Amino acid sequence: GAGSPRAASGTAAVQLRQRLEKELEDIRGAGTWKNERVIASRQGPHLRLAGGGAGILNFCANNYLGLSSHPEVIQAAVEALEKFGAGLSSVRFICGTQSIHKDLEEKIARFHQREDAILYASCFDANAGIFEALLTPEDAVLSDELNHASIIDGIRLCKANKYRYKHMDMQDLEAKLQEAQKHRLRLVATDGAFSMDGDIAPLREICQLAQKYDALVFIDECHATGFLGPNGRGTDELLGVMDKVTIINSTLGKALGGAAGGYTTGPKPLIDLLRQRSRPYLFSNSLPPAVVGCASKALDLLMESNAIAQSMAAKTQRFRSKMTAAGFTISGKDHPICPVMLGDARLAAVMAEDMLNRGIYVIGFSYPVVPKGKARIRVQISAVHSDEDIDRCVEAFTEVGRKHGALP
Ligand code: PLP
Repeated sequence: GAGSPRAASGTAAVQLRQRLEKELEDIRGAGTWKNERVIASRQGPHLRLAGGGAGILNFCANNYLGLSSHPEVIQAAVEALEKFGAGLSSVRFICGTQSIHKDLEEKIARFHQREDAILYASCFDANAGIFEALLTPEDAVLSDELNHASIIDGIRLCKANKYRYKHMDMQDLEAKLQEAQKHRLRLVATDGAFSMDGDIAPLREICQLAQKYDALVFIDECHATGFLGPNGRGTDELLGVMDKVTIINSTLGKALGGAAGGYTTGPKPLIDLLRQRSRPYLFSNSLPPAVVGCASKALDLLMESNAIAQSMAAKTQRFRSKMTAAGFTISGKDHPICPVMLGDARLAAVMAEDMLNRGIYVIGFSYPVVPKGKARIRVQISAVHSDEDIDRCVEAFTEVGRKHGALP
């Protein structure tokens, strides 16, 4: 058999173990320990948790369009697996490019109405790769202070001059753009939609400033692709600036089937350069065929009809208006990320736990994930929630809110 684990001996190993145990204790002591609940069913609006807990109503996945367990998406994955195998055992430029990878890149570019696209193992990788490949010490990048961790890390890896502007603050962005005029190229980088607050970047204003100060605009559309805008193309479609945003990074791991993968889409020479220079692309394995199959089918479904995206918007509206009427404050606007603002960290934790006792899975967020005093429970709406699911969630919130003093 496998036997029991072997503990490494020697002073260094013992010291390391002590240091790690102390660090883990500190995390527990700070109250920021992250527990992982184990799901024993497919991802979807109704879950079964390991060790019991059937029929749990799920409001905390990024499964915005309900495609993660869509029968046609699963079937497409099975077919791709059978035809193209388990995986490529190679990076793209050695022997890891199949016809399905090229087809998916072409489909992504068409979906976003851009010239070309390049696939990565994740959007984290797409963000890690782009800034270093594109920007030199002669250039500048201007980044919203609340951008996703992967954008922050990607920017850290590049040698451009770095400016951080206050969250969605156009005055501050303008001041930083003025300061950055001395550099060869300016790139404004922002999340299209911010995942903690459910707020949407003011892209019209950002693009106007970019035009005024001769800058390029980059958006991370992980929480927008597939469902924001009349046809689900994203924040740029929603705000009417598809022709003004130069570069889009996004994920295949949320609304677009939820398997994994990310991409950059934009001008052809940029995509060509990324294939030559982007380190997470050059030095990491190709996306597995089944994963490619899922995303490709998800895009087909979205390009056939905008009904799924529209249905999600209607459900989001139902939840936001009923919760507001019940007396809760919901942050953001018109986005399926609906943060129920509670303020107190303990209140958010206790209420989330009590919601689960009532069969509703939601997650509380507190400092350091969000600012002190701004603890919240984040609810995420999906197109596959029924009106009854949403009403049940609102009723449970109302009961739990009254019980714990969040509502009068
Ligand atoms: N960017 C944003 C805004 C995200 O929310 C995420 C996902 O957590 C990522 C990037 C990373 O995407 P992926 O899961 O494909 O690595």
